[in-house]
Amino acid sequence: MTAPFAPWRATILTLYPEMFPGPLGLSLAGTALARGAWGLEARDIREHGIGRHRSVDDTPAGGGAGMVLRCDVLAAAIDAAAPVNDPRPRLLMSPRGKPLTQARVRSLSAGPGVMIVCGRFEGVDERVIAGRTLEEVSIGDYVLSGGEIAAITLVDACVRLLPGVMGHAASGTEESFEGASLEYPHYTRPRDWEGRAIPAVLTGGDHGAVARWRRAESERITLERRPDLIARAARDEDGDGGGEETRR
Ligand code: SAH
Repeated sequence: MTAPFAPWRATILTLYPEMFPGPLGLSLAGTALARGAWGLEARDIREHGIGRHRSVDDTPAGGGAGMVLRCDVLAAAIDAAAPVNDPRPRLLMSPRGKPLTQARVRSLSAGPGVMIVCGRFEGVDERVIAGRTLEEVSIGDYVLSGGEIAAITLVDACVRLLPGVMGHAASGTEESFEGASLEYPHYTRPRDWEGRAIPAVLTGGDHGAVARWRRAESERITLERRPDLIARAARDEDGDGGGEETRR
């Protein structure tokens, strides 16, 4: 779908474009952004606001507290940012959305990029979700004050999987949530610290023993903390036609 050298590109629609790149401009994501390995564009929804005050929100129909982002304003912002032939998925950060998973992150990062709408206040007028086919995505079962931090989270998770962004490719495939397990524990110098030693197997030089120990630790930690991941992997293998990737 993408041209051979078109980099993965995120377009963010927000009332606070100054929140970007924010943390995405630092560390590995930031270096990769600076050398053009991926692209980021934050666009101000208020440019499409109504009237002299560039108003973007109004009171909820039916009454109640807070304000709702107008569908006409959001639609104008979306149409200006992503023409109809833009192949990128259009996401709306929302606590009502399908919870983000590593499998979904992997499939998004393998595509051309994302267009993300960040909500504020009580949220957005429901009609723009259907009218512009927005897919609601949640980053967890808690409520943030706006979609920006959620969008930064999603983009960060995608960008670190892009080819050449992370130093060691392997650290992208062995870690937590790849497969059904959480990662094993890490250690580094000093060998002894406050009476706690690095497990002897890790400093013994037997690579086979290290691999077995890591697998066993990974299983123990997953069983202890997240038995739901093991149950989910078993369900996916039992063949309902595929895992996370195909089930959306
Ligand atoms: N009244 C809404 C919450 C609005 S929070 C409700 O009860 O569902 C304001 C905005 O923050 C939302 O429109 C959304 O864009 C963002 N947001 C809040 N929590 C989020 C979450 N868990 N995941 C993704 N986005 C979230």
